[in-house]
Amino acid sequence: MIVTLKSGAKKSDVQAVVARVKKLGFTPQLSRGAERVVIGVIGEGNKAIAHKELFESMPQVEVVTPISKPYKVVSRVFKKTDTVIDVRGVPVGGKGIVIMAGPCSVDTRENVMVTAKELKKAGVQILRGGAFKPRTSPYAFQGLGEEALKYLAEARRVTGLPIITEVMDPRQVDLVERYADILQIGARNAQNYDLLREVGRTRKPAMLKRGMATTIEEWLMAAEYIMAKGNENVMLCERGIRTFETATRFTLDLNAVPVLKTLSHLPVLVDPSHGVGVRDYIVPMARAAIAAGADGIIIECHPNPAAALSDGHQAMLPTQMHDILKGLRKVAEAVGRTL
Ligand code: PEP
Ligand code: MN
Repeated sequence: MIVTLKSGAKKSDVQAVVARVKKLGFTPQLSRGAERVVIGVIGEGNKAIAHKELFESMPQVEVVTPISKPYKVVSRVFKKTDTVIDVRGVPVGGKGIVIMAGPCSVDTRENVMVTAKELKKAGVQILRGGAFKPRTSPYAFQGLGEEALKYLAEARRVTGLPIITEVMDPRQVDLVERYADILQIGARNAQNYDLLREVGRTRKPAMLKRGMATTIEEWLMAAEYIMAKGNENVMLCERGIRTFETATRFTLDLNAVPVLKTLSHLPVLVDPSHGVGVRDYIVPMARAAIAAGADGIIIECHPNPAAALSDGHQAMLPTQMHDILKGLRKVAEAVGRTL
């Protein structure tokens, strides 16, 4: 249930509603729009509805709206305006398209530094790199762990690029949070509720990837787990789903972009690297993603793909990124965005 206050409601009016929400045993979630304050009344099931009239009778309350969806804070009904997340000065979700790029997994210090410098020159805004890798086989390279986080932090120091890296386990959140500017939750953990709650306890920007067999509604409920704990800095990333198609690694569901933009206020990114898993198809799908309304793209790059310890087959060269961005810029401009 959402309580919308009249425009011009005072701080004391907001406090009175918040106090009543708490007294009734619910959690208040505030959203301050340009004109109005909106307060989400969050609790189990639809129990809050029983108190609708009580809130309606409060002097500065304009309207009380039930939310029928199983997700609330992530919903456009709760917050009409697009959420823009500040990642060390890089806005994600605004007019500007954000490009994130870097290796699937961090391998050597040298490779990370070379990649980061090249990406910075190309105009990429955020550096990606896996330190803890969720590998399908237990015998595949599992990532360098904290050593990789140190290399990423060094690359950030030198280039100024913020870093995004995956956190796989609730027990890793403290460590990864100390280094990362964005906590990535991978497809394989998209519905790991303990992890989602733990990331929700931080205030670090989080990028929640779609599970490979997760519906859009389930995905939004997963995002709700993070936001319900108070972390409002959530972005969503479409990375392909499982279908009967075998020509590509997954099927990049670009339908999800306009659907999410309608249902939610959160920034939407697209990962064409995992979505197609075939180097030659990544750029066309990145262009399509921007045309469809994505707020950003995340692309895997490696200076020597043949020697990469994971996903080398789908890695672009960092030196290609300059031209790739040039092409993406044209699409961005065609749909009223900047890059
Ligand atoms: C990754 O970004 O390297 C990754 C493992 O992605 P996903 O979780 O989408 O498979
Ligand atoms: Mn990868």
